[in-house]
Amino acid sequence: MMLFATSALAAAAFGGAASAKEAKVPPKPQNVLSPDAALKRLMEGNARYVSGVSRRHDFKHEREALVGGQNPYAAVLSCADSRIAPEYAFDTGRGDLFVCRVAGNFAGDETVASMEYTVAVLGTPVILVLGHDNCGAVDATIKSLKDDKPQPGHIPLLVAAIAPAVKTAAQQSGNALDNAIRQNVLDNVAKLKSATPILNAAVEQGKLKVVGGLYRLRTGTVELLAQG
Ligand SMILES: [Zn+2]
Repeated sequence: MMLFATSALAAAAFGGAASAKEAKVPPKPQNVLSPDAALKRLMEGNARYVSGVSRRHDFKHEREALVGGQNPYAAVLSCADSRIAPEYAFDTGRGDLFVCRVAGNFAGDETVASMEYTVAVLGTPVILVLGHDNCGAVDATIKSLKDDKPQPGHIPLLVAAIAPAVKTAAQQSGNALDNAIRQNVLDNVAKLKSATPILNAAVEQGKLKVVGGLYRLRTGTVELLAQG
């Protein structure tokens, strides 16, 4: 009886596992990539976008496959700036990128949680934190700190999130805005990499890479930043 019960349980568990596995067939098998391969694919997409040879995306025929699920091959934390548009900048279709956007591309709690979801549940192998030239949110933070004058409305929330990078960058030589934009990307890469308990574990297990990049407004080029 014991044995039967155990076997029945095992069978049920196996059956359950098998059907769960069937249900998890990725809708886009081409998106099941290693972190390095995913990053390479992102950069190849950016090269097409920069050269003006973006692919034609057949959204109509992709729709059906994506009804039952998603398996994006990359996540992007981008500024909300209307000139960036990650799906265009990497020449991607629907179901390819998991994108979080906020002015100043910083990782607040909701963004960390969203990234945990895409990594742990959807299996996304790479997160790119994407800053850009002439970022208004970073510029406003620099001005607010310099003038010691609070911005109106809820904007102080953005200023508080970006201020640490601005303060670090103030010690660096060169253009204050460019330095702060770069530092803000690096800080948020570090924050996401070390976010416990999910993202840091995925990085340690080699399942996830978190990288930083800068989008150049003039050319559309995304330059990856060396990781410190
Ligand atoms: Zn911006």
